[in-house]
Amino acid sequence: MISREQLQNLIERRTNGNRILSVYLDMSVNAENKRTYDIFLSKRKSDFPQLDSDRAGHHREALGEAFARLETWLDEEFDQSNRGVAAFLELGGDWTETIQLPLPVENRVAVDERPVVTPLVELVERYHHHGVILVDREHLRMLSLYMDQTVYEAEVETQPYPTPHDVKRGGFSAKDFQKRKEEEARHFFREFAAEVERFDRLHRPDDLTLLGTHENVRKFEEFLSESIRKKVVHIDRAEIDATPTEVRQKLAPAFERQLEREEAEAVNLLRERIGQSHKAVAGFAETLEQLQEGKVETLIIARDNQVSGGRCGTCNFLLARTGGDCPYCGGEVSDGIDLVEEMVRMAEEQDARVGFVAASTLQDVGGVGGLLRF
Ligand SMILES: [Zn+2]
Repeated sequence: MISREQLQNLIERRTNGNRILSVYLDMSVNAENKRTYDIFLSKRKSDFPQLDSDRAGHHREALGEAFARLETWLDEEFDQSNRGVAAFLELGGDWTETIQLPLPVENRVAVDERPVVTPLVELVERYHHHGVILVDREHLRMLSLYMDQTVYEAEVETQPYPTPHDVKRGGFSAKDFQKRKEEEARHFFREFAAEVERFDRLHRPDDLTLLGTHENVRKFEEFLSESIRKKVVHIDRAEIDATPTEVRQKLAPAFERQLEREEAEAVNLLRERIGQSHKAVAGFAETLEQLQEGKVETLIIARDNQVSGGRCGTCNFLLARTGGDCPYCGGEVSDGIDLVEEMVRMAEEQDARVGFVAASTLQDVGGVGGLLRF
């Protein structure tokens, strides 16, 4: 699993001159229940001519040694329940960072001065931390879901009031019993509402989903505070004893729709603001310029975009072109800069939000845009 803090550490890692091998692997199993990452890895290794003379066990190349270190880790440490891997290995040094992911990522290998973080940023920025509340008149269950995993689960037990059998013995009338059951439900719901408050405070979910029968959920909602009610984005039916897997499967389509809605909203807002020339920018050159001036609040970028740019060797400014002189200081501009990676990194460093959207939706604005702070 990946946390924001882990991602931040990767982004802020200081270079020591050694290059970094970044590897992303799709570790999901195919229809034959097999993983195929090794085919990808050997193919990519054959792209490095210097590895031809490298020998297993006697690495003459730092890159060969790094790949071997990764393969050992995959054999010994990979948890088979996961579906993705991100690994960063220092060439000619010991530093290694491996992250197991519950979701598949696209296969990718890169060697650069710093770890390539864009696919991780996309995961962390895209997925929400969902709080799920299952309720009936006597039970409360709370789950915290992140990237298709249950990261926390709790159940509140209650001490039910006397059952009908006990009631008869105690001599209560049916009417009294009914009244007592109502009183009991109110009592439990008040208690449950306090538990939900505590859950929200401790686990800080981005949003909440209420599950149960229509009647129970509607009644329970009345006991929730205004701030909790505002966080509820989805209400659905579910059995109180549904397993976490059943809950995740049931909610997956709703969560997916929520992500699609958010993507569409971000693109619409960008388009609207560009149309009004109001606090927005489009295209690589302009967005890059605003980003370097710290003015971008939300970077909206097409998924799987590959754009090459340059960097001025004197003032360090990034440019959406390669070669020539720097327009700021006249310095020489290098090429071969992965512009998407640089922009995503810069946005993260500035605490700007990053939204990844389908490439087709951003075509007419040049594949990238930014909502500006001012
Ligand atoms: Zn310059």
